[in-house]
Amino acid sequence: MARYKDSVCRLCRRENMKLFLKGERCLTNKCAVDKRSYPPGQHGQRRQKFSTYGIQLREKQKVKRIYGVLEKQFRSYFDKADRKKGITGENLLQLLERRLDNVIYRLGLTTSRKLARQLVRHNHFNLNKRKVNIPSLLVTKGDVVELKLKSIDIMPIHESLKKMETSHIPEWLSFDQDSLKATVLDEPKRENITVPIQEQLIVELYSK
Ligand code: SF4
Repeated sequence: MARYKDSVCRLCRRENMKLFLKGERCLTNKCAVDKRSYPPGQHGQRRQKFSTYGIQLREKQKVKRIYGVLEKQFRSYFDKADRKKGITGENLLQLLERRLDNVIYRLGLTTSRKLARQLVRHNHFNLNKRKVNIPSLLVTKGDVVELKLKSIDIMPIHESLKKMETSHIPEWLSFDQDSLKATVLDEPKRENITVPIQEQLIVELYSK
């Protein structure tokens, strides 16, 4: 599986916004966007002027980076979104939100999607009572994601459970702290995605 291995803070600096890729560190004053709010590289501090194509490209890159998806997979999400009924941009975001690693992050069980992906890969969750280790798996309404009992002592999960605020869980999900089970109550809606994303720009880019 292809993976991005360079510094993730560079990605935030390139997009000129916090993408929250490093969990706790993103909330401290060590955040690279706060310290150096200009793009990385030799010419980073030069004034930047983007063409229409450049603006569309940056938006696409930003969304890919937020969800930790590489180009080939992102393109296949777009094609799937395009084939679905409804607004393509919203369909695309909905598909990304339904990824299992994103669901675990949204529940507040991890501080980043990257960590959520790692925990799924290491078999810490069940989906509908069955073992699951595919972070890109798409959940649907009625699915139950369960944190394995033996996994609650793993440090990042333990810490997240202690701090968990169920009020921060999006309305299309619910989590029961006693049984450690999350239920997908509905399909995610556009208004549930609070990160500033202009999905129309991505549709325009791929429609050229
Ligand atoms: Fe981005 Fe987090 Fe690094 Fe800040 S600390 S630049 S938000 S990954």
